[in-house]
Amino acid sequence: MNEIYNFSAGPATLADTVLKTAQEELLNYKGSGMSVLEISHRSALYTEINETAQNLMRELLNIPDGYQVLFLQGGASQQFAMVPMNLSKNKKFDYIETGSFSKKAIAEAKNFGDVTVVASSSDKNYTYIPKISDIEFSKDADYIHITSNNTIFGTKFYEYPEVEGVELVADMSSNILSEPLDVSKFGIIYAGAQKNLGPSGVTVVIVKDELLDVNENVANIFKYKSHAVASSAYNTPPVYSIYILKLTLEYIKSLGGVEAVNKLNVEKAGMLYDYLDNSDFYTNSVEVESRSIMNVVFTTPSKELDAEFVKGAEEIGLKFLKGHRSVGGMRASIYNAMPKAGIIKLIDYMDQFAKENGGK
Ligand SMILES: *Cc1c(COP(=O)(O)O)cnc(C)c1O
Repeated sequence: MNEIYNFSAGPATLADTVLKTAQEELLNYKGSGMSVLEISHRSALYTEINETAQNLMRELLNIPDGYQVLFLQGGASQQFAMVPMNLSKNKKFDYIETGSFSKKAIAEAKNFGDVTVVASSSDKNYTYIPKISDIEFSKDADYIHITSNNTIFGTKFYEYPEVEGVELVADMSSNILSEPLDVSKFGIIYAGAQKNLGPSGVTVVIVKDELLDVNENVANIFKYKSHAVASSAYNTPPVYSIYILKLTLEYIKSLGGVEAVNKLNVEKAGMLYDYLDNSDFYTNSVEVESRSIMNVVFTTPSKELDAEFVKGAEEIGLKFLKGHRSVGGMRASIYNAMPKAGIIKLIDYMDQFAKENGGK
């Protein structure tokens, strides 16, 4: 059989070793005679999984004291609502609009206060990240919200806003753990796990202690504090998703941590961008200074060729390269778990396809 490389944007490829460990442990977790799928979330077996995953998040991202690491449900989309609910004080929120997910976050925040879109890259179909130094932020906003990596458009922030007295909130769903991070600059970081951390079903939220209980008029289930005091077991957590998250974090640690993984990510993305930059056949329309290292978007000279490209790729085991329906073209999602061999095979195929269709 052809080796399969899965370029899906999410749920996305998991490391082989993670899946193999899960398989080995599926029927009999640590000699218990039971599966992680069927143990109580109050059992010592599960408590250890939960604690290990929390501690690994802290270790890998160097999370300082004074922050909670929460494992919640409802996806990143639920955070679009939980952030304004929980941080609402002046009921004024600044957002930077850099694509579809930030638009959804903005729409949700409007249910809870006055939203100012302080910058947007919609004028160029989200192919760049607005320059931070050009932005005028509100002085009395409760927070500034950014989408650190734009999964659909293939852009990422390389610098972050910093405004005295205003919290910074980031949706890092598609690039958390892809690069070193100074967590102390953020009030809240959240990420659906299904891109770079594990399977769907769990959302990681890193939140500063002072922000756990800013607005007390929030339903308990949506309050950060409820989940923090219960160590992410306020109600039944997605036990198996958190278990796979734990295995993924152990895997990242075994590779040498976030710095080592970042080196590899920069190399992998660099190989693709180098190839695209030297091609007379493919186009990547993202501004060079805003390029994502997780999602690389490109097109051929025509929609027909795009469709043929994707079809031919599927046939040789390069899966899910079709771009998001809102932008068309192709997208290679190359998260931490995508091996370099996948990139090499993709570039070989791109080269061959270009030559067969009039490129050089
Ligand atoms: C995938 C994604 C989301 C949506 O995540 P859900 O878990 O489906 O709610 C939000 N933001 C970004 C940046 C994403 O990539």
